[in-house]
Amino acid sequence: MASLGKRMVSVLGSTGSIGVSTLDVIGRHPERFSVYGLAANSSVEAMLEQCRIHKPLFAVMMQESAAQELQSRLPQAWGTQVLQGDKGLAKIATDDEVDSVMAAIVGAAGLPSTLAAAQAGKTLLLANKESLVMAGHLLMDAVRESGARLLPIDSEHNAIFQCLPVQADATPLKQGVSKVLLTASGGPFRSWTYEQMRGATPDQACAHPNWSMGRKISVDSASLMNKGLEFIEACWIFDLEPQMVDIVVHPQSIIHSMVQYVDGSVLAQLGNPDMRTAIAFGLAWPERIASGVAPLDMIATARLDFEAPDEARFPCLRLARESVAAGGTAMVVCNAANEIAVAAFLAQEIRFTQIPQVIEATLEQVPVVEPNTLSVVELADQHARSAAREAVAAFLQTAVES
Ligand code: NDP
Repeated sequence: MASLGKRMVSVLGSTGSIGVSTLDVIGRHPERFSVYGLAANSSVEAMLEQCRIHKPLFAVMMQESAAQELQSRLPQAWGTQVLQGDKGLAKIATDDEVDSVMAAIVGAAGLPSTLAAAQAGKTLLLANKESLVMAGHLLMDAVRESGARLLPIDSEHNAIFQCLPVQADATPLKQGVSKVLLTASGGPFRSWTYEQMRGATPDQACAHPNWSMGRKISVDSASLMNKGLEFIEACWIFDLEPQMVDIVVHPQSIIHSMVQYVDGSVLAQLGNPDMRTAIAFGLAWPERIASGVAPLDMIATARLDFEAPDEARFPCLRLARESVAAGGTAMVVCNAANEIAVAAFLAQEIRFTQIPQVIEATLEQVPVVEPNTLSVVELADQHARSAAREAVAAFLQTAVES
């Protein structure tokens, strides 16, 4: 429900990279947007500052101690009410007054609130790709049944959305689409040997050449698991068979993805690598608003390169493809194992090159079932996490012994 003609927006994961960029765009258009709710896990300092600037009606902290601290430090005059935990998150994701929900919590933790926003028929600005990877079927059904509008925020899917014809009732195939070309920067280790990657540190993995992002997605970009997750995400959002999606490495990250048509045309969306373009697109759709992103200088850009991905050096891409082919909860297992492996790598418990090994070992161990309900998905997620933790522990043990 728009208040005084403004769109009411909730930002889930407001203190993260996407959340901060979203509030930056919102802050440029005070006549268009009001902030209904903000949600974070534990970053009290950042949340306090966001409340000072944006004066949301609600601020949700997942951690109880963080909610208490925020409550004690938040001046009453700002008019923000503090909520805690899942109930608070559900309220700001589904309340009747909310028009748009930015789903930007990182990882599987974002699934319940993303699904709730879809079920409530909101305009869903989807950054949290993990929820589609885990529960694509449930999420897309919820969008269809409630009449929600899903606008992809991941830059590649946002680009594909922009390159597809506006014809909501037709699948891409019917619209003459022959392929979707998902671009990948190749990440910081694009030209590294396996031996070099074996010794890679978390800081090296997070030093993305083109994008500034949270640490989890940065490691995913370095391992190419991010492209694997995006591959699955593209199949769900655009109702594509896996063979219709090709991955093309494009190191400059200027073309954000392309759509190839049966007549030989290829449409591409270009821009500087800054998530505020996709975020502004999602916030204002179907209109266009300024995002703060510098215009693309084609002369300075000079050249655009393309190459095939190397699945031998980056096995995560193969594992994602194999999970799609296996179907059922295999994608849930792949995602959960990846989250555990990435956290272990960031904690310097395992090597970068052991991330795919943890995922593969977990996929071999956890049985695949049909993901009919959210509880089946959550059970598979938990099962996979404990199997992945065991795989990490085995690597730790081997490291101690050698
Ligand atoms: P960040 O790590 O920067 O931020 C994560 C946000 O989620 C923070 O606000 C964090 O709060 C919050 N959070 C973490 N755990 C929980 C939890 N259990 N419950 C509620 N909130 C939680 O992540 P990014 O912004 O990089 O990524 C967010 C999502 O967007 C991911 O799914 C990612 O794949 C996707 N994405 C990101 C892109 C990017 O450029 N960053 C590009 C495309 C997609 P706190 O600060 O308190 O920890």
